[in-house]
Amino acid sequence: MSTSAISIKGLTKKYDGKFAVAGIDLEVAYGEIFAILGPNGAGKTTTVEILEGYRSRDSGEVRVLGDDPQALGEKKYSWRERIGIVLQSSADAGDLSVRETVHHFAKYYERAKDPESVIALTGLSEKADDKIRNLSGGQRRRLDVALGIIGSPELLFLDEPTTGFDPEARRAFWELIKQLRDEGTTILLTTHYLDEAEALADRVAVIAGGKIIEISPPETLGGRHLAQARVTWVEGGKSHERLTSTPTNDVATISARLGGEIPELQVIRPSLEDIYLQMIGGQE
Ligand code: ATP
Repeated sequence: MSTSAISIKGLTKKYDGKFAVAGIDLEVAYGEIFAILGPNGAGKTTTVEILEGYRSRDSGEVRVLGDDPQALGEKKYSWRERIGIVLQSSADAGDLSVRETVHHFAKYYERAKDPESVIALTGLSEKADDKIRNLSGGQRRRLDVALGIIGSPELLFLDEPTTGFDPEARRAFWELIKQLRDEGTTILLTTHYLDEAEALADRVAVIAGGKIIEISPPETLGGRHLAQARVTWVEGGKSHERLTSTPTNDVATISARLGGEIPELQVIRPSLEDIYLQMIGGQE
């Protein structure tokens, strides 16, 4: 019995003789939000669909909620009840309203959430009586999420969940995801967005070319927390620059020397984006 919600060892998958997933190992703990970050074609969707039981693997060991998604046998239906899936492209049910669709899906699950509260939670109350085909892209995506969580899943898969969202909808969506995590849901999300990984994930796996480059909390990805800060300022009419691990101390010293304000002071640290581009740049 695995103690992780997801356990992957030595996972590989080839298409036409080429590795899409070239030996991945990772563990996702119960209750964790885990993000898989990587460029187009990195192998994210392939990995996630293997975990969901929608694609077969070539080799490696996979356990999802303790079971092998490729060998579920008669556990198939009870296992499916415990996971929620939000795929990249949504199914079409154009003539039904949001409310009809959510109520309809709720009937499939033994432990369904209250459909009206899911509609409210996903910010669709005002659109509840609109037909799905009249929704905007972002609203449809929220409906996908509503359908993914209606069955109270223990584990939720989100494949690029906020693609096409405006900034306000993304923030609202992040709050929703945090709320689900606080209720104990384990969440695996794939994303292209660094700020999304930073805002949500307890840990991030960066993958490129079917391989994991690093797994760590977003704060320490790529040794970011150890990277030196660049302090720049103007003193005696000249620009100065210093790389330092103790910028606060340095600024205090310079300030004391100058008797207060430091002209044109800047303290610059590498952003998550700088680090990420460096990481995947070396792989591509
Ligand atoms: P994106 O961010 O663009 O969604 P991804 O990280 O999800 O990319 P995958 O969709 O897993 O990447 O694709 C990984 C590699 O496998 C790519 O080179 C892709 O072209 C290839 N691939 C994916 N699905 C298939 C398929 N059904 N048949 C053949 N090749 C495939």
